[in-house]
Order: sequence, then C-alpha cells, then structure tokens
Amino acid sequence: MGQQKQKWVWPRVVLASHNTHKIAELRALFRHEYGIEVVGLDEVSDLPEIEEDGDTFEANAVKKARVAADMLKLPVVADDSGLVVDALDGAPGVYSARYAGAHGDDAANNDKLLRELAGVPVEKRSARFVSVLALVIPERPLIVVRGECPGRIAYAPRGTHGFGYDPLFELEGQSTTMAELTLEEKGKISHRARALAALVQRLREEYVF
Ligand code: IMP
Repeated sequence: MGQQKQKWVWPRVVLASHNTHKIAELRALFRHEYGIEVVGLDEVSDLPEIEEDGDTFEANAVKKARVAADMLKLPVVADDSGLVVDALDGAPGVYSARYAGAHGDDAANNDKLLRELAGVPVEKRSARFVSVLALVIPERPLIVVRGECPGRIAYAPRGTHGFGYDPLFELEGQSTTMAELTLEEKGKISHRARALAALVQRLREEYVF
C-alpha cells in the first residue's frame, strides 16, 4: 500500500542561506512549481550564521535547517555543497569554501588544489561537485537529497563564468570547464540543479499541493 500523501499547508519556506544567488534559484523553482514563496533567513530573523562543523554535507545541511526551523516554526531548506577529489581522499569536501584558509577565497583555493594535484596524471584527477539539500518541516519527517556532477580537475583554470572551483572543473567526457558554461547551461547539469530536481520529486511523492 502506498504512503498517504500529506496536504501541504505552508505558504512560505525559509532558505537558511545568505547567498542571494541560491535564494533566487530556489525562489524561482518553488514559485513556478508550487506557488510557494521562498524567503531568505535574514528577511524573517536576525539569526546569526549557523556554524558548519559537521563531517558530511548532510550533517551540515541538516544542522542549518534544524536550528532555523526550531526557532522559526516554519519549513526551512538549507544546502551544503563542495568539491570532492578522489586523489585527495575526498578533499576539499566539506571544507571547500575555506580550503586555503580564508573563507570564500576562490583564487587561493584553486591555487592550493593545483598544488596538491601537481604530478597527478589525468586519469587520476577524477572529482565531483556535490550539493545536499535538507528540508525540515515542523512535525514532519526530514527530507534530505543529494545531487552530484562528475568531472575531473584540469591542469590550469579556463573560463570566466560561475564561481569557486568552476574554472578547474572539467565536465565528465568533455574538455569544457564549468566556468566555460553560461549560467543557464550550468543550471541544467549542475550538482545543485540535480539536488533541486530530487527535492521536487520527493515533495511530489510526499505532499499534495
Ligand atoms: P557553500 O555550499 O556555499 O558553503 O559552498 C561551498 C564551497 O564549495 C564554495 O565556496 C565553493 O568553493 C565550492 N562550490 C560549491 N558549489 C560550487 C559550484 O557550483 N562551483 C564551484 N564551486 C562550488
């Protein structure tokens, strides 16, 4: 027997992020799919940045969503993402944003990644971008989804679009880096796009809108 779907009763969902790019992306999706309004955390509270101290993307995303949902008594979605490099045993992983020390220093992070991979041959430079989304809804089961985008690390940066490790990330089976794609092209294949598609799928399975 199939699980009984619940009626969705929340007109608003909070995104536990201060990243305006992510808020815009989720806002468009939820409005388009469900007519649900997505608001940024700072629009509804002055909760300080929640520390990401977990060992996994899942732990960080769930923590961020739980802390905010417990306080606000509203559905909260949080995400955590990063780059996983096989030859580095999964590094930079959950430390992607602060791999070289300072939080969000993309140039220093990319330099460090190239240094760590110096001398590693092309067939051992496999990597993937990972995005995990956690949705905490008061009194309802937790939803956690993951999206991945496979590729490998180039020998030098190429491309000017995107952010973070995009200029060093070659898409699987192609010589194009993520930074050579337009925002629209990246939005079709990225780890984040895949995680969002998985979230939409889970919401459809579990809720009636
Ligand atoms: P956060 O999820 O905003 O904490 O991002 C973590 C870090 O992972 C970012 O600072 C980037 O270094 C890296 N990252 C996550 N997603 C992407 C992406 O789409 N392109 C390039 N780097 C990314």
